Amino acid sequence: TPTVGVLALQGDVREHVEALERLGVRTLRVRRVEELGRCDGLVLPGGESTTMIKLASVFGIRDALREAITGGLPTFGTCAGMILLADRLRDGAPGQETLGGLDATVRRNAFGRQVDSFEADLDFPMFEDPVHAVFIRAPWIEEAGPDVEVLASVAVGEGDGAPSRIVAVRQGRLLATSFHPEVDDDLRLHRHFLDLVTA
Ligand code: GLN
Repeated sequence: TPTVGVLALQGDVREHVEALERLGVRTLRVRRVEELGRCDGLVLPGGESTTMIKLASVFGIRDALREAITGGLPTFGTCAGMILLADRLRDGAPGQETLGGLDATVRRNAFGRQVDSFEADLDFPMFEDPVHAVFIRAPWIEEAGPDVEVLASVAVGEGDGAPSRIVAVRQGRLLATSFHPEVDDDLRLHRHFLDLVTA
């Protein structure tokens, strides 16, 4: 049985732990480097990315997180967690750092100027039925590198000409979504992540 950690500095940690436990894996709330070392996979939850990166530095785990992720630890970032995974960040707070690993430019609070929160049904190539996605002050992916596979996009605005924005991607064993799959009963994205952990 794999052990999947959830970075537990801030954010919706409990929802991710519950989703993972329902799928039968061992879970671990990660705050310290020793705990990170026991993980076969890691979830970076939603919350507030500026707070999380500051706390990661305070807890002395930031550099270990960077090394683990770039070293190939399977990692699933949701919303603020997607921001943490971004190699390049737009509209970050002044001086805001990320952990990196995902070859993409992420725009923070990207939908927020028009709408703070919204829901949408998204098609994924690996699922038969759409995923009901909850977006809360969500980021989007503005530009993605050649090894990044786009899994889902959402149309912004009305009509045929409405631009579409990338909101879910996979790069090797990294998975990232702009929205919050942990707030729902739908376990398909967590299960997909576990497939990447055990692959
Ligand atoms: N806007 C938040 C941030 O910048 C992310 C929102 C979320 O995780 N729901 O980190």
